[in-house]
Order: sequence, then structure tokens, then C-alpha cells
Amino acid sequence: MSTPIDWHQRSQHLRIEGRAYIDGAYVDAIDSDTFDCVNPATGQKIAEIASCKEADVNRAVASCRNAFERGVWSRMPPLERKRIMQQFSALLLANREELALLESLNVGKPITNAFNGDVVSAATTIQWYAEAIDKVYGEVAPSGHSMTTMVIREALGVVAAVVPWNYPLSMACWKLGPALASGNSVVLKPAEQSPLTAIRIAQLATDAGIPPGVLNVVPGFGETAGRALGMHMDVDAIGFTGSTEVGKLFMQYSGLSNIKRIGLECGGKSPHIVLADCSDLDAAALSVAAGIFSNAGQVCNAGSRLIVDKAIKDVFLQKVVDLATRLNPGDPLDANTRLGAIVNRKQLESVMSYVDAGSQQGARLMAGGNRALEETGGYFMTPTVFADVTPDMRIAQEEIFGPVLSAITVSGVDEAIAVANNTHYGLAAGIWTDSVKTAMNASRSLRAGVVWVNCFDRGSMSAPFGGFKQSGFGRDKSLHAFDKYTDWKSIWIAH
Ligand code: NAD
Repeated sequence: MSTPIDWHQRSQHLRIEGRAYIDGAYVDAIDSDTFDCVNPATGQKIAEIASCKEADVNRAVASCRNAFERGVWSRMPPLERKRIMQQFSALLLANREELALLESLNVGKPITNAFNGDVVSAATTIQWYAEAIDKVYGEVAPSGHSMTTMVIREALGVVAAVVPWNYPLSMACWKLGPALASGNSVVLKPAEQSPLTAIRIAQLATDAGIPPGVLNVVPGFGETAGRALGMHMDVDAIGFTGSTEVGKLFMQYSGLSNIKRIGLECGGKSPHIVLADCSDLDAAALSVAAGIFSNAGQVCNAGSRLIVDKAIKDVFLQKVVDLATRLNPGDPLDANTRLGAIVNRKQLESVMSYVDAGSQQGARLMAGGNRALEETGGYFMTPTVFADVTPDMRIAQEEIFGPVLSAITVSGVDEAIAVANNTHYGLAAGIWTDSVKTAMNASRSLRAGVVWVNCFDRGSMSAPFGGFKQSGFGRDKSLHAFDKYTDWKSIWIAH
């Protein structure tokens, strides 16, 4: 057995890069401005980050455009591009300890999750799209004996990937995988809360052989760097993951500039339904607890609304409460920790304000609802469960993005589905039932991009992920993700 890693000791020797990455080199922001990167587990500053603005974005986009037009990547033979992306994936894994540590220090995620989950998922994503490069074919249209019509996919050009802070590395790779594999150049803008791994992997991409200018990284704030990308006349597409509110802004930016293509992976308020005929309530309870408390509830598809049949409500809620009270927040660098910190003070205060709103509107607090480990200076809270929630309450409608479960009681499957669909979001849904017929009918009636039956939060690169309604449009993962970063061209050859 290998010796366990001492993550605290390892973090003492970590070198953190905070500069932007443009044209194959680390650079300061043009105006030399920086902002602080804070460890949410301690409240302490850990790095200074280049605060990129419009001038930096212009420089990054110009570099991407130049690389695209020169064809150093876009016209590289598919086998070569594939080999380089496979090498990029291999380097992500080779640097797994460092990347996991950066992610954990930056967003307060348990190191075990970062090490076994986020970094592996990022590498798998890049590998999956690398493999697809020489396997995705175009079409030949049926246009007659003396005409041949080829329908081919073409890269769009310069793609901007604008990503959130909850899974910084894997969200970035969900965009980078298909965008790079199809030959685009990419400007990656990490969230201001979580720039560290994005900055680091830019160098790894170059080390793998991705030519300078093909992947540039511009850390900075949404209102400056993010807006500049959205409004840029030479950005061809935006791959966005984040809140619905900001997703709507990107649609405006597009309309006000060059009608760049937009793919939006936005927020959610996903229902997790447990029907009275579910025979394995222990498995369902574990799934409900994991569905809301993983990553401290900072998950777009978190099962934040438990919709439970009144016949099993009391016994089921008790099981979930028992699980919640056994889950204690802890030091993210302790390999045994399963619940880490909330990303920053602002987000913690926002989540706590929902705890107040739940109590004020008459919901019954059954577990948690408190800050924790305040002596660390970090931003921790206890897993929280509210019962007697009604569908109109704020904690039943608004995305809290924290470890807060809102339990709503219903009678039968029809009411469960009506309540589940009573939201402007439509990212994901889960349902527990022993009846195949109920499961199939419910799956078709739930208005969500992903439905899980007798499981929750399952996925692989082979299946698309994305939302209905105000959870966005366009899909990450699977071959369908190429639709966001390519366009079809028809070539007619008379002969
Ligand atoms: P956010 O919308 O605040 O920020 C996302 C990105 O947009 C960041 O890079 C940010 O800097 C940028 N941004 C913010 N304001 C901007 C502006 N005015 N103009 C241009 N860019 C701007 O989201 P967040 O708080 O980082 O992440 C949480 C949200 O992300 C939640 O709503 C969550 O549901 C969603 N999310 C969705 C998915 C999914 O796949 N559907 C996955 C993860 C997170």
C-alpha cells in the first residue's frame, strides 16, 4: 500500500501561478492590476491573480484568431491533433496531485474529491474528445448522379469558454474538449473565485504540444473580462456555464455585437422524487443526501427539492436527517473530509439568508442551518434539511447553491410531477419507484434535460448533459457537444 499523501505538507511546496496565459506564455494584465485569491477554508489570501480587462481580452482573442487563421491547429492532421490532446490528458493525470491541491485550496473542495473526482474527470473528458477526432465523419447528401454534395463540419474559429467556480477544472474541460478537438482556438475565462487550475493547465496544454495562441487564459471579473468576451466582434462562439442571470446577459451581448453562437449551461432547482412504492428507502435516502450535500450543495444539478409521498414522509425524512447530522464539515486537506467549505464569504452569507427565509416563511428546520468551524476563519456550514416546505416558498423556487434541502410532501405520482415541474429551471430530475411503468411515464413527463431513475447524478462522457427551460440550451458532453463549436458546410461539386 502506498503512503498516504500529507496534503498540508505538500501545499507548503506548491508554487501558485496567478498570471494570464497568452500566446504560449504567462503575462501580467496590461494595466498590471491584480486581485486576491482567497482560500475559503481559512479566509487567507493564497495568491494574486492578474485582473484581465478588455485590453487583455483583445490581446487573447487576437492571438487565438491568428493561430486559427494560420491553421497551426485548425488544419493539423486529425491524427496529430488527437495525439497532442491525448498527451494533454496524460499531463493532467501526471500532475494530478498538484491540480487537486490547487482546486481544493482555491474552492474549499475536499481533497479526496478533487483528487479522485475533478482531476480524473477533466483528464477523461480531454481523452474522450481526443479519441473522437478521427472518428466523426461528415455526410454525402443524395444529390444525383452528376452532382456530389459533401456536408462537412467546420470549426467556428475563436471560442470563449466562460466557466463557474463549483467544478472549475472539469467545467473548463467540458468546453475545451469539444472546442479544441474540432479545431477551434479557445479563450478560457475562469470564474474570479477559481482561477488557479485554469491558469495551470494552459502551460500543460503547451507542454503537450498545443501550439501557442490556441489556448489562452484570461482570469478576471465577469463584468470586465467576461463582458468583453461576450461583446467581442471577433469571438465566434461562447461556451458558458454559470447562473441563468448571467446566461441571459450573454444572449444580450450576442445580440448587441456579432450574433456569436451561445451555448448556455445554467442553474437548476432539481427535484428528487421518492414515491410510496419505493422499496429501498435506505438507498433512496443515501442518494437524496448525496444529491444535495456533495460539493456542499454547490452543484448545478443538485437535488435541492425532495418531493416525497406523504405515506413514507416521516420515516424517509428521518433517514435523510440522520445522514445529514452525521456529515460534519471539515478541513478540505484532510483526506477523510467529505464536506468542505462554501466558496467564499459572500456565497456563505447568501446561503445563510435562505436558511432565514425558509424559517420565516414557515418551513420546519430539521437539521443544520448553522455556520461551522468559524475558528478556522473559513466559510463552513452544516448540512441543512427543511420539512413542510410548500412549492411557493423561496427555498422551493430559488437556486440556493449550498447544502440546503427543501422537502415538499405530495400525494401520488401526478402531484409529484406537477410539483417537480413547477419551476422555471429544467436541468435534471430524479425519481425513486419500483414500478417500471411509473418510472417510464414519469421520465417522459418531467421537464428536464436529464432524468435519473432509482439513482442520481450518474453520468459519463457518452451521454449529453444540459437543461430545458431557463437551465439553458445546447449540450455539454458526448458527440452532441460538437454542435456548439462547429457549423455545417455544404459543398456542391458538379461533374
Ligand atoms: P456566474 O453566472 O456568476 O458566473 C459564471 C461565469 O460568468 C464566471 O466566469 C463569471 O466571471 C462570469 N460572469 C459573471 N458576471 C458576468 C457578466 N456580467 N458578464 C459576463 N460574464 C460574467 O455563476 P457562478 O456563481 O460562477 O456559478 C454558479 C452558477 O453556475 C449556478 O447558477 C449553477 O447552477 C451554475 N452551473 C451550471 C452548470 C451546468 O452545467 N448547468 C454547472 C455548474 C454551475
